[in-house]
Amino acid sequence: MSRIAVLGIGKSGLSAAKWAVTHGLECVLSDVLPLKKWPEELVSWCELHGVSIDAGGHSSEKILSSQLIVPSPGIPLDTPILRAAKREKIPICGELALAVGLWPGPKIGITGTNGKTTCTNLVGEMLKRSGRPTFAGGNLGTPVLEKVHEVGEEETILVVEVSSFQLDLFPLGPDMKRTVEAVKRLVPSFRPPAFDVSILLNISQDHLERYKDFGEYVKSKARIFRTQSMGSWGIIGRDAINTLKEHGVSLRLRQIALETPDGGEKVVVLKWPEGGSETYDTSRFKPMGRHNRENLMAALYAARLLGARQSACQEVINGFSPPGHRLELVAEKSGIRFIDDSKATNLHATLAAIEAIGGTCVLICGGQAKGQDFSPLNTPQVRERVRGAVIMGEASGELSSHLGWTQQVAINGDGDGWEKMHQAVKAAFEMARSGDVVLLSPACASFDLFSGYGDRGDAFRAAVERL
Ligand code: ADP
Repeated sequence: MSRIAVLGIGKSGLSAAKWAVTHGLECVLSDVLPLKKWPEELVSWCELHGVSIDAGGHSSEKILSSQLIVPSPGIPLDTPILRAAKREKIPICGELALAVGLWPGPKIGITGTNGKTTCTNLVGEMLKRSGRPTFAGGNLGTPVLEKVHEVGEEETILVVEVSSFQLDLFPLGPDMKRTVEAVKRLVPSFRPPAFDVSILLNISQDHLERYKDFGEYVKSKARIFRTQSMGSWGIIGRDAINTLKEHGVSLRLRQIALETPDGGEKVVVLKWPEGGSETYDTSRFKPMGRHNRENLMAALYAARLLGARQSACQEVINGFSPPGHRLELVAEKSGIRFIDDSKATNLHATLAAIEAIGGTCVLICGGQAKGQDFSPLNTPQVRERVRGAVIMGEASGELSSHLGWTQQVAINGDGDGWEKMHQAVKAAFEMARSGDVVLLSPACASFDLFSGYGDRGDAFRAAVERL
């Protein structure tokens, strides 16, 4: 019997294990967590379905005797067990790559350092409103592999956001060939996992705690195009095109370069490479800033390429609500607007926020730095906009030195994340003047003080309400 080894008992691992069970494949589920930390219902589920459990580490003999290894995207590729699997040429394929290779209908993949969720939601809504059966999701939402069997043979369009960690688990070159053969032996309908339309919105420093250097991160993002066939499409942000070139990545695809739209204009114009153009009215488009207009433009190209109607796209532009914690207006008090951009977990997003709000702000920032260079905080554009900064979390020292040119308050007393956020919001409110924005846009991950960016944003909202 064929065996697959699933590494990691997070959402994506569980969906891979379920998939194996559904296809009658022998499966070993492995995690570094000791068995007593596994959820009880998971252990019972494994027993019920004959899934063997490998807890407290990754046992080489069970994993390296499998025909396919499906690691969770959170597991670094240089983990000893994956290095050993590579040496022994055992196919490695992520859950999303499996799902893409099994998805029967057309597929759109969306990556970039920032903007994936916003763009994915836009494309999904445009296609759905045009009456096209569509599933939009990915990354942290419902694992796509769980949806594959639901869509059956239908021509449902897949619109999926793809992180660099997931892209690392899309096999390429000889690995691709081996993987396709291995999976086909298990499930004959599997095809090379490739998107019909891939979007790369932007690439800037992030996740340098995982990649050797920025170049490695760029190459990871570029993988989204490398599985595509010649006739398919790549939609790429202008800066990202330059970054790819600087890192020696060349692409053989039909390409559309995103012209950065001016934030002040009230229209977005698509120009098709083969001629012709389309104009959309953006006077009612809610998401703020030039970066969101770029997300919109990418979404329009992709949705139109897969058959969305122009009128439906216009309706989506008019009614679109941006996802929460992304430049979300929380309240206005004494002429000061409080904006929650907790999802800005890297500096690129924070710089976009500072530009997008238009006026001056007091910036609340800090958290875990992930190896980023914060020196772009000391530029004339930022100096012009940031009246003061309230700094919290592990990266306080670094941020404070790069923001040395402005007034600062450091939040480093006692208390948990929520208490610290309360102090931060109070300090920012005192510093702000009427007409300013108090902007929570941390440029950092949240896990030092919060359970995630959502928790951090909720703490901000609660603190604003308490003022
Ligand atoms: P992702 O899914 O890639 O994290 P989101 O749409 O959730 O992207 O947005 C994450 C953060 O990045 C938010 O703070 C948002 O305001 C910001 N952002 C969104 N799109 C862009 C972009 N194109 N360029 C820079 N920042 C962006």
